[in-house]
Amino acid sequence: MSTFLELGLREEISKALIDLGYENPTVIQEKAIPQVIASSQDLKAFAQTGTGKTAAFSLPILEQIDADSKETQAIILSPTRELAVQIGKNIQEFSKYLKGVKVTTVYGGANIDEQIRSLKKGSQIVVGTPGRTVDLIKRRALKLGSIRWVVLDEADEMLNMGFKDELDKVLDATPVEKQTLLFSATFPREVESIARNYMENPIEITSGEKNKGSDDVTHEYYVVNERTRYEALKRIADVNTDIYAIVFCRTRRETQEVANNLIKDGYSADALHGDLSQAQRDGVMDKFRKKSIQILVATDVAARGLDVTELTHVINHKLPDQIENYTHRSGRTGRAGKKGISVALVNGKEKGKLRPIERIIKKKFVQANVPSGKEICQNQLMHLIDKVQNVEVNTNQIEEFLPSIYEKLEGLDREELIQKFVSLEFNNFLSYYENAKDLNDLSSSRGDRDSRDSGRGRQRDENMTRFFINLGRKDDLNPARLIGLINDQRITDNIEIGAIDILDTFSFFELDKNFEGQALSAFEENDPEFNGRGVNIEITKKERSGGGRGRGGNRGGRRSPSGKSNEGFGRRRSSEGSSSRRSGGGSSHRGRSSDRPDRASSDKKTGGFGRRRRER
Ligand code: AMP
Repeated sequence: MSTFLELGLREEISKALIDLGYENPTVIQEKAIPQVIASSQDLKAFAQTGTGKTAAFSLPILEQIDADSKETQAIILSPTRELAVQIGKNIQEFSKYLKGVKVTTVYGGANIDEQIRSLKKGSQIVVGTPGRTVDLIKRRALKLGSIRWVVLDEADEMLNMGFKDELDKVLDATPVEKQTLLFSATFPREVESIARNYMENPIEITSGEKNKGSDDVTHEYYVVNERTRYEALKRIADVNTDIYAIVFCRTRRETQEVANNLIKDGYSADALHGDLSQAQRDGVMDKFRKKSIQILVATDVAARGLDVTELTHVINHKLPDQIENYTHRSGRTGRAGKKGISVALVNGKEKGKLRPIERIIKKKFVQANVPSGKEICQNQLMHLIDKVQNVEVNTNQIEEFLPSIYEKLEGLDREELIQKFVSLEFNNFLSYYENAKDLNDLSSSRGDRDSRDSGRGRQRDENMTRFFINLGRKDDLNPARLIGLINDQRITDNIEIGAIDILDTFSFFELDKNFEGQALSAFEENDPEFNGRGVNIEITKKERSGGGRGRGGNRGGRRSPSGKSNEGFGRRRSSEGSSSRRSGGGSSHRGRSSDRPDRASSDKKTGGFGRRRRER
């Protein structure tokens, strides 16, 4: 294994790396650093998060940067604010012994004037999110005429997030003569096409096999249905007494709901998604890093910038829409030499997605059984007993209380004492799981009807109202036409539209509950026609929601008998919790669909009138 000096980096850089505790280069660094120093050939690198890719592209650039010139020589694009900030911070640390090197990080959601001021002072390296970078180019605050390096970090994520146009614009603003470095964990068609269009004969390097998952991750799947999915998640959390996990969801709404339910049930959980303000997101990430939150429920995008190395589990509450993203998710565990488990909760239909994922990760999923109540109680008890065995007794501090305690407990023998103490800690748990069903026997719970029964067995979204409409397929109604019809009624700007079920002669659709009255009046007043037919809508009878709720809050989970959470976990969020979906007031979020893929801190805006959420 070579040292950083042997890779061609100067003493000042190597010294900074030693300060950071980087003793030896990682595989990707060993391959990229000498290559970029020695040659200006474009480079395509297959690298997952956690492989040390930030240093792999930053260090050879720092080695060659002209610190005497104030022109911007390197532009690094990254998908999210968190990631951009992290890269900027890393570069500052790497260059702390290099005189005159300046890096500016630019991203949306922050004061643009400050960023402009910083750019005006001259930064050889600029790290940015695509939207804000384009904005600054348009304002002529960022000039890319002297660029020597363009880095596209997490190119797949940037394209996933819809930044294709921005990437094109930034790349078009750079000179022809330059070196382009593209880093991506996966190489779907769209990334290959960027590479084809903007790179010349790139050399390919990889930190492992293309798209292959880490060897330290085992992949498990649990078969669930929509009624057991949440309960299964809770049981996985309960059986793994020291769980420290990210639960990935596909949409912001799903993320917030799962987090709310976990919090309500006494778990130490919180949500991270793009509907939260930047300050809220920073707060949640900070709490998670410090482990004062045990379970983080997140969308793919919002979790991107989070750098934690000790996750025990990654849980796919729902598998990602694009199966390549599974590698990103599971790559969050099994890092820094630690073992990790990536869990997928799949219903009968979703099971079909596992095979293609196995082909990508080159590993097999192992089917696991949802733990029984007995297993959970056993694990929790043994965990407690281990803690008792290992606890350090501070005799000095408790000495003065002991005589009165001994006196009080005088009548109890050893067995009785143990029984009482275990009961104290576990009565809640034991009673919660006393008659717990076998969740692996899906036939006992009606569930998998969810996707085809026009929504009747489906878990209801509490924030939406379900409407009946007297039009169906026979009237040529389809989801797009229905959305158009709803928008034509001008109920309110950007009203959120939920699930749509088109049937033969009638249909159902969901609208934001807050506007149900306005929706009814708008249809009544406008009295619209569709294909020559009068239109009627009605609110459907409310159904009780399914899933693991409604069984009483605080049993099981991480609650201590006093109702307080154990071990400093389980702090409830205050106002930011359930209301956070609407943070920033009604107007700023109107029409933002909580059910589309999250763009977190990306600086794109959504416009338009009532947009439809994902088709279910
Ligand atoms: P990255 O893939 O760039 O996000 O890096 C993942 C983590 O590994 C970060 O916490 C880095 O600080 C750390 N890291 C990167 N390179 C090295 C190295 N050569 N030695 C030790 N830690 C490293």
